[in-house]
Amino acid sequence: MPGLIDGHCHLSFGQPAMPGVSVARGTTSAEFTTLRAARNAQTILRSGVTSVSIPGGSWFIDVALREAINAGMLEGPRIYTAGRFIITYGSISDSEPSWVGTPEHLYGVLANNVTDMVTEVRRQTKHGVDFIKMADSTWGDTQTISKEELTAVVDEAHRRNARISIHSRGSDSTSAAAEAGMDWIMHADLATERDLATERDLEAVAEAGSRIMPTVTFLKHAAEYGRDFGRTEPEVDQIKINLEGAVSVLETARKLGVKVMCGTDTGNSPVMPYGLLHANEAEIMVKYGGYSPMEAIVACTKDNAFCVGLEHDLGMIEAGKLADIIVLDKDPLADVSVLQAGRHLSWVIKDGKIVDLDPKGEEHVLELTQAGD
Ligand SMILES: [Zn+2]
Repeated sequence: MPGLIDGHCHLSFGQPAMPGVSVARGTTSAEFTTLRAARNAQTILRSGVTSVSIPGGSWFIDVALREAINAGMLEGPRIYTAGRFIITYGSISDSEPSWVGTPEHLYGVLANNVTDMVTEVRRQTKHGVDFIKMADSTWGDTQTISKEELTAVVDEAHRRNARISIHSRGSDSTSAAAEAGMDWIMHADLATERDLATERDLEAVAEAGSRIMPTVTFLKHAAEYGRDFGRTEPEVDQIKINLEGAVSVLETARKLGVKVMCGTDTGNSPVMPYGLLHANEAEIMVKYGGYSPMEAIVACTKDNAFCVGLEHDLGMIEAGKLADIIVLDKDPLADVSVLQAGRHLSWVIKDGKIVDLDPKGEEHVLELTQAGD
């Protein structure tokens, strides 16, 4: 079958913690983060994921990594990447007080008006990002970016041949993003939450021809394991609300014919280690969203090719297309969970070349361990 594509994966957030590596504030460097991100990329490829879409990271590390992989300097998946999220006060990643702002190691960059947002789009496209990532509030309780701002940034990104996506959970921000022309919307998990707004937001997404990427894998893992990794009780309760929303969004999107793409948010937190969860979204679609295994597999391959900018060349096995192929020793149509964690991989082929799945001297250090272990 075609190689897996994880449509939502972060390489440079510094999560999960690596044994022996300090995560204290002020110890992050672009140099170390780049090396670690390169290591993460190799782990991902060996789990059968031949492409990733990276909606945000620190500095321009992911752009550099894409260039290095394309130049053959190291093995890794195809990379299609955004830069730092464009955010306003109150958006996700606005974690510092206003007098500190957003230092370069943060994955968000503050832009509180249209001029600053458009300037940031120009700066990022100059440095080679493939798409722009905007970000509304963390859990979708408030809308932090106005429709006018969204429209201005979408227009500028498209003018510069970059696609654009947004972290949007709240229903108002989701419909506004769709109407502004966002290429795809990540999360959208409260889009069916409000009584009167039920389905309206996803109808706006359907009408605009936009796509969504519910990214349920992260919510499910954070709901199950978040408490063990330092999440507070109210936070876990909030995550459960978003999780319920995400499941109902999956069903509604299927009904409305909205294209659903598969992303996991691997690398966004201690509960999301590399190489293990990239195919979990497929099982979630089947188990909770009513999708058939084939529909879920298409979502993780052919349909996901859109979020790596290769919808005409990738995600299918056909003469003349890119040769990203995985070979499994079990049938994923009988049980879609066999795609997970590379457990049933016989071969990974990227761009016609066989990937060494077990290089000598390789230690598997990125396991699901307690933060700080
Ligand atoms: Zn993310």
